[in-house]
Amino acid sequence: MRNLFGLTRAELEAELVSSGQPSYRGQQIYRWIYARGAVDFDAMTDLPTELRTELAAAYSIERPTIAERHVSRDGTIKYLLALADGKNVETVYIPDGERHTFCLSTQVGCPLKCTFCFSGTIRFERNLEPGEILAQFMLAREEIPDPPARCNVVFMGMGEPLLNADGVLAALDVLTDDEALAVSPRRITVSTAGLVDELERFSAKAPLVGLAISLHATTNAVRDRVMPINRKHPIEELIAAARALPIPRRRRITFEYVLLGGENDTLDDAKRLATLLEGVKAKVNVIAYNPWPGAPHARSTTEATTRFMDVLMDAGLTVSLRRSRGDDVLAACGQLANH
Ligand code: SAH
Repeated sequence: MRNLFGLTRAELEAELVSSGQPSYRGQQIYRWIYARGAVDFDAMTDLPTELRTELAAAYSIERPTIAERHVSRDGTIKYLLALADGKNVETVYIPDGERHTFCLSTQVGCPLKCTFCFSGTIRFERNLEPGEILAQFMLAREEIPDPPARCNVVFMGMGEPLLNADGVLAALDVLTDDEALAVSPRRITVSTAGLVDELERFSAKAPLVGLAISLHATTNAVRDRVMPINRKHPIEELIAAARALPIPRRRRITFEYVLLGGENDTLDDAKRLATLLEGVKAKVNVIAYNPWPGAPHARSTTEATTRFMDVLMDAGLTVSLRRSRGDDVLAACGQLANH
């Protein structure tokens, strides 16, 4: 039986047409699956009974299931999902007053092996399917008693989104479609460790989606060490690629910078970062380091953090600080490892 969950609108229409149905049936089913969360054909009351029986014989609507829930004292919830092939992946819901953020994973494990990230310590298994990405959002949202109308989605969970660019683009197609999950692309951010070859193609295909680049160092010596991908695409190449991206008016690329105590948080680092970003449509998101069992780095002191941010602000950059959320249940940035 073919699983329809995860198909885009165009794919569903094509599937229905190939089974001898008019394409509008595909549209109807599409709305049921995503906008209304239907998991069986019986629920699709505007389809003829006969067709529903026929569909149920040929197709399934299968989503991953929630295997574990970990609730942080700050309200953040980490879900461990069980995938059809027995593998697992984590997804995080982060409530913050009126703000609701869903943090999605794109791969099982991660091949990039950044030294500060727990996800790199488990075995890289595979890319997630579009349906496995969409299900993270749908399942976590369905858990909220009174689901919010507006929410933010960040692709900052386990894995490197641009190593699964096609899967992420297909998921974005459904996520942002008004007939499906209807999340505004302006409320979505895709975070990448800086896969220069993919950046241009990806942002051309998803121009309205926010882009965040994990920079985390201002010299190639340090970045080579903490983010091995830098040996392939050094800092200058990455910044040049970012500079060349067509960024829509009033939008900026976010540069993420996790402060590793004594390693990338000096006064000189702050000054170099300001210089690197000169003339780039950039804002900086300074991130507090979240340690995990066996983590090789230390958190920056409050003084070092403040000094670092002050230098950037004095240079005219927009700077924000990302605080840890859900770190008591290993749900914060860099702590997802299916534990
Ligand atoms: N692979 C993508 C997306 C996943 S990580 C990327 O590299 O951007 C989302 C963000 O969390 C990235 O900026 C990542 O560098 C950061 N991060 C990883 N480990 C962290 C840790 N231990 N503490 C704080 N942030 C971390």
